Amino acid sequence: MKLSVEIDPRSGFCNGVVRAIQQAENYLQFSPRLYSLGAIVHNAAELERLKKKGLEIISIAEVEQLRHDVILVRAHGEPPETYALARRNDLQVIDCTCPVVLRLQEKVRTTWERLHEAGGQVVIFGKKGHAEVNGLVGQTAGEAVVIGSVAEIDGLDFSRPIALFSQTTKDPDEFRQVADRIRARRPDAEVYDTICKQVAQRHKSLVDFAGDHSVVLFVSGRESSNGKVLFDLCRSVNTRTYWLENAAQIDLGWLRDGDSVGICGATSTPKWQLEEIFLYLQDVTKS
Ligand code: SF4
Repeated sequence: MKLSVEIDPRSGFCNGVVRAIQQAENYLQFSPRLYSLGAIVHNAAELERLKKKGLEIISIAEVEQLRHDVILVRAHGEPPETYALARRNDLQVIDCTCPVVLRLQEKVRTTWERLHEAGGQVVIFGKKGHAEVNGLVGQTAGEAVVIGSVAEIDGLDFSRPIALFSQTTKDPDEFRQVADRIRARRPDAEVYDTICKQVAQRHKSLVDFAGDHSVVLFVSGRESSNGKVLFDLCRSVNTRTYWLENAAQIDLGWLRDGDSVGICGATSTPKWQLEEIFLYLQDVTKS
């Protein structure tokens, strides 16, 4: 079977994830173990690689049991309670919160402090229970309302002032729809487009990439919320888009002779994994 295969040059980890993994690896050069509060990246293969170096993922319940130890806060960030817990338990924090998320947390906090006085509400367009969203809700003493879709707008209290923010990895088009619908019912609503520029840029370039190939192999962990959004985006452009976590999941029945195959992934997909798929397809097409 003859295929032309290309890796999306813009796919791979985002800056926030690269930075967090670098800091973990730097620490593990001099220490046999580091606890990460939650998965440092939503990608099983990369987690396995880091586990071999000593990175251990723990839950907040497990952090409560630690004393005088070191924990890593991943790029998604954490609510203020986590830092308070670390202080109580004398834990050193390697804080890898992405600078973009840190700025967003600060903006959510100051906006909530201002609106709270006026009886207003902070609304976050994001995935309920996602670590970044929990970190944002934590800036508002738990008062922020999280909506995951346009349909959930109806549950908002439009008699009160509203300030709208977005989780950094949400779909820009969907955010615009949410913002438009809120403004239609509350024209003075404050709207802050806080989608990460790297993510927004990737949306634009992936549309072209998916359209330029006859088949798209989208590589990402199933846990990745950005993965779900970007997979859906590729699928909307190219119906022959397939989601996989590793080369072993490739079904050769997806491919036809002469196909042009595009390999791409989420902000949590390492470049080496895309290269692995590329090499696998090269091997297959040789035989
Ligand atoms: S997607 Fe953007 S905001 Fe989120 S961790 Fe990556 S670089 Fe930071």
